[in-house]
Amino acid sequence: MKKLSILGSTGSIGVSTLEIVAAHPDRFEVVALTAGNNLELLRQQIERFRPQLAVVLTEASAKTLRQTLSGGKTEILHGVPGLIAAATATETEMVVAAIVGAAGLVPTAAAISAGKDVALANKETLVTAGHLIMGMVREKGNRLYPVDSEHSAVFQSLQGHRAEDVKRIILTASGGPFFNLPPVRLAQVSIADALNHPNWSMGQKITIDSATMMNKGLEVIEARWLFDIPGEKIAVNIHPQSIIHSMVEYVDGCVMAQLGVPDMKAPIAYALTYPERVSTGVKPLDLTTLSGLTFFAPDNSRFPALRLAYRALLDGESMPAVLNAANEVAVEAFLEGKIPFTAISRAIESTMDVHQPHVLSSIEEVLSVDRWARDKTREMLSLSRF
Ligand code: NAD
Ligand code: MG
Repeated sequence: MKKLSILGSTGSIGVSTLEIVAAHPDRFEVVALTAGNNLELLRQQIERFRPQLAVVLTEASAKTLRQTLSGGKTEILHGVPGLIAAATATETEMVVAAIVGAAGLVPTAAAISAGKDVALANKETLVTAGHLIMGMVREKGNRLYPVDSEHSAVFQSLQGHRAEDVKRIILTASGGPFFNLPPVRLAQVSIADALNHPNWSMGQKITIDSATMMNKGLEVIEARWLFDIPGEKIAVNIHPQSIIHSMVEYVDGCVMAQLGVPDMKAPIAYALTYPERVSTGVKPLDLTTLSGLTFFAPDNSRFPALRLAYRALLDGESMPAVLNAANEVAVEAFLEGKIPFTAISRAIESTMDVHQPHVLSSIEEVLSVDRWARDKTREMLSLSRF
């Protein structure tokens, strides 16, 4: 029995994780669940999985939830202390980090400090604090398993090989909904167009990140830390069919790839049960039904966000945390209809331009630069007509 705390259980990754848990009751037990605003779904999950602990954002939500639960022994906590309690619960062996955004950093770091293994979906943790997190993982000796499909593909393509034989990592990207749109039309795309991802069904923030290709940029930074490989050895190929989930090229010219239909249950299950494999309900891949697998170099003029992520990696120190925070604020402004799609990248670049990168030596310092970048981006957005 693997005992799990699932942070962000009502989100896209959280729900898929619980589907795997439900399909393998002999393997998993749920110790803690946490959610943001979707109290009704959390209530259903509590009744179904009977965790010891459930966590919501506010005291008011905690009160409401207590009133709506019919009996049971689940303790209800709230806020960051509640998230930390879920991440560090004594019985928990593995924490599934599936909160969206930098809000996932503190509980994920707490899980690692407490010696828990982590199945990491929350890429923002490594983008904002990669060197600190990987330092903690080395010190504690716990395992960090990638949930992100590209990183899971790289992890799988590394099995049985020596790290020193890796020449480069090739992350694949679908190109999102605007891959074929003439760049001049990008300024006019609607929120609904941007949320209409061709291959993956995901939470809103990562869906917009996929449309700008910031998602791939964040994944380049995530790969840099997870696999301890410099940015210049991480390439991105647009692969609109999303069948090859990423590749590793070795010094002898051989390339290992991992394929499958796009369904997050496969990488989630691999992170939960590594090195074993279990049934996931993912549709089998039938290559004969595909019309072809195609690959393209990314177009930096259409996707400036990817260029900005490589720049943040090169600038180093606090710059990736600034990139991430500015992106979260700009994506939120786009989703609220306040700025056009193309302003997302322009706002991020303007914030990066006024930031002096400096060393971050603690999670508190990461949070402080995150706050600075959010304030600066909001200020930029309120002053300028992006
Ligand atoms: P989502 O928006 O569907 O779900 C996010 C979860 O976090 C929800 O349970 C929500 O209630 C909770 N949450 C949101 N803000 C919170 C806060 N401030 N404090 C506490 N909880 C909060 O997001 P998602 O698509 O499931 O993505 C989760 C993470 O996984 C992201 O970091 C994303 O980049 C990564 N990821 C997602 C996918 C995918 O297919 N959805 C694929 C790869 C990586
Ligand atoms: Mg991904």
